[in-house]
Amino acid sequence: MAKCPKCGVDVAKPTKTWRLAPKGKKAITIGLYKCSGCGAFFRAAQK
Ligand SMILES: [Zn+2]
Repeated sequence: MAKCPKCGVDVAKPTKTWRLAPKGKKAITIGLYKCSGCGAFFRAAQK
């Protein structure tokens, strides 16, 4: 679940996810979301 930064609509599932592992830091999972309200794409870290 992530909130669209443009219109505030909650998007339940990401279109795509991938792991991001910066050197020396803990790996996180990023999700690419497509807003069902305004159609904007945005990225958000997964919990
Ligand atoms: Zn939106």
